[in-house]
Amino acid sequence: MKQKIFIGKPYLSHTLTHVSVNCKICLPWTKNMEPDEPGYGAEREFILHYTVPKKFGGDKYLVSERADAFVVAALPQAMLHGYDIVCEAPISERLYFQLTTMQIPAVENYMKEWRSVGIEASVSHERLESAGAAGLAFTAGIDAFYSLKLLTETKAERYRPDYLVFLKVGSTGSKGGKEEERLFQLRMKRLKKFAAQYGYQLLPVTSNLIEMLDEKNVINHTYRSASAALALQKLFSVFYYSSGLELTDFAIRHDSCGAYDLLTLQSLSTENTQFYSAGLASSRYEKVKAVSEYEPTYEYLDTCLKDREPDCGCEKCIRTRMELYAAGALEKYHKIYDLNYFRDTFGEQMDLIERKAMKGRKKPMYREIYRSFRQKGLSLEEYHPPEVRKALEEENRGRELGPDDLPWQNNRAADAAKQQI
Ligand SMILES: [Zn+2]
Repeated sequence: MKQKIFIGKPYLSHTLTHVSVNCKICLPWTKNMEPDEPGYGAEREFILHYTVPKKFGGDKYLVSERADAFVVAALPQAMLHGYDIVCEAPISERLYFQLTTMQIPAVENYMKEWRSVGIEASVSHERLESAGAAGLAFTAGIDAFYSLKLLTETKAERYRPDYLVFLKVGSTGSKGGKEEERLFQLRMKRLKKFAAQYGYQLLPVTSNLIEMLDEKNVINHTYRSASAALALQKLFSVFYYSSGLELTDFAIRHDSCGAYDLLTLQSLSTENTQFYSAGLASSRYEKVKAVSEYEPTYEYLDTCLKDREPDCGCEKCIRTRMELYAAGALEKYHKIYDLNYFRDTFGEQMDLIERKAMKGRKKPMYREIYRSFRQKGLSLEEYHPPEVRKALEEENRGRELGPDDLPWQNNRAADAAKQQI
């Protein structure tokens, strides 16, 4: 018999300053356990919550009438292990329909790691009373700033974001616990400053979701973020989640749930809340160019996976610095990045860009930086020794490059970079 995830009836709880919607979830527990460990997969209770500060009127907006948020939160876990979902509370009819006829069959069909699951629940098509606001999931990264710029410029006033929503669902500190909390607070402080200076409402939504899910953020971040927004369906009639890839990179793939956001965000929309993939019409490099003309970003751009030290060597900082450099705009970000560090480590960074542009799931993100360098006559091939050129030709013929195929063996590109900054 198939194992099941039981989702109880959501309920609200209060502290002096915050209000939460909670739900008891009984699931076969695998988090932080090895498959051969005693008790692996044994049923365990977990109280999942989404919490907002009271001053935002959380009592009115948090949804205890539907199990939607909790079903979406548990869905990746259910599909990856093949557990059916059983709900005590009703779920929105539109969500039920889209999950059972589109999302689950498509995901199961195209990814061998995900399995078909059933959802047992009553459904309701009644719209919940709503403030009709628009929310944008906001992290102050390139994609988020591009979405903000795009959406605040629209003439369709009701679609302009009323709230910048900062979600604590596992993207800050992917291991959870104290490190997640520390990074969340650090970034929250900077976001607060930005929101106050530019007149935006910043709404933090926190959750303990990461303590329950046992897969990496990259596999399920869209589900995590959407689940938090669905907990606030009485606030948001529109919710934007920024695309990380462009439309032509659409793919249903296990290692990048962002690649099929268009499907997921459509499927997770309800009678109350419509999700949109914001910025999906532009490539990453187009976004970088647009963002580099947007003054608030010169102080508040925050792309870091760690502590945003000016000389950070995390992959996102390296990529963003190089993107801004390719766009001819890195100098504008001297408050955020250490330009001396950039110059001194140019060769190593370029090596990473090349490798990533050639292969793997992040290829689309790096492809255009690489192209831009070539267009500007900073073609890297000319700096390559013959054996590297040969490897590149082989790549063009369809062989994926190995990690040792592209040694960085000269400093001429680094010299060119020094002259330009
Ligand atoms: Zn960093």
